[in-house]
Amino acid sequence: MKADAIAPLSRAPLTDPFGRDISYLRISVTDRCDFRCVYCMSEDMTFLPKRDLLTLEEIDRVASAFVARGTRKLRLTGGEPLVRRDVMNLFRSLSRHLTSGALEELTLTTNGSLLDRYAQELADYGVRRINVSLDTLDPDKFRKITRWGDLGKVLGGIEAACKAGMRVKINAVALKGVNEDEIESLMTWSHGLGMDLTLIEVMPLGEIEPGRIDQFLPLSVVRARLMDKFNLVEDPYRTGGPARYVRVKETGGLVGFITPMTHNFCESCNRVRLTCTGTLYMCLGQEDAADLRAPIRASADDAALHRAMDEAISRKPKGHDFVIDRRRAKPAVGRHMSVTGG
Ligand code: SAM
Repeated sequence: MKADAIAPLSRAPLTDPFGRDISYLRISVTDRCDFRCVYCMSEDMTFLPKRDLLTLEEIDRVASAFVARGTRKLRLTGGEPLVRRDVMNLFRSLSRHLTSGALEELTLTTNGSLLDRYAQELADYGVRRINVSLDTLDPDKFRKITRWGDLGKVLGGIEAACKAGMRVKINAVALKGVNEDEIESLMTWSHGLGMDLTLIEVMPLGEIEPGRIDQFLPLSVVRARLMDKFNLVEDPYRTGGPARYVRVKETGGLVGFITPMTHNFCESCNRVRLTCTGTLYMCLGQEDAADLRAPIRASADDAALHRAMDEAISRKPKGHDFVIDRRRAKPAVGRHMSVTGG
């Protein structure tokens, strides 16, 4: 008798060996992007052939299996999720899990370049809060950081998202000598428009041209500088992600800190990441992964998929060990953030 026939299909919540419940799935729906941010990609990236990608229906199938096992939050990311053709069909179909109450949140991380086109549709499909990545408000610097981006389009996209009724959080990577003098103005601008700001430490993912040691700015330094001018009060606010927040008394807004380098947050990690080819990474900062494309393509029912998910989660590591230092020429993991999905 085949194993499928005798193994009862487990629908138990996914819990890893360290007792952490997996309730958050990030999905990179494409590795392609219309920007080439200097800390994220090299200028001449080679992208995956389209035939290797999961179809949108296959992504829905995997995401729905995770929802059946306790995932409460889905984030679509990339690459740039809004450049994937017909991605709105995926948002529409996943929104059924919001309607049923199985899913708490459906959201995305975007560079904002196509938001003016899609904001209303996203809101219609139940997306309530989005993250927009924006590292500077200076148009020339913006073009230098993104290599190809147009700040005006992104600002228009943010406006469209707010008009559509979505809450926008700005994510900025803190970059030494690039935007470190702008953190305060990014904060007051974001808070002035009712948006929170999250700052991120640059992580050693993938080979890029300039050394990351030159870009790395510890957020402990940024925080100390903000504290010279503002009253920061620890805040219990959580979004289910890794950021830890303070409320700025003077502006009333929140600033989040994502500090994988200076203070890792692995002990409370509830996340796993699916790439657009169906590879599941149990940790952003480790190479170990599981293939979920083979089980879904092997069979129309989900038994093998659930077994592969169980097996993968049983291998979720305790944490990552990112280091940026001058002696280490290689990045901690070889794949770029655009592959795993930020
Ligand atoms: N294209 C979308 C965007 O721009 O938000 C989603 C994908 S992007 C890879 C997600 C986030 O990862 C962005 O906020 C980006 O700034 C951040 N990111 C990319 N590479 C990074 C790195 N090496 N270290 C820290 N953050 C990084």
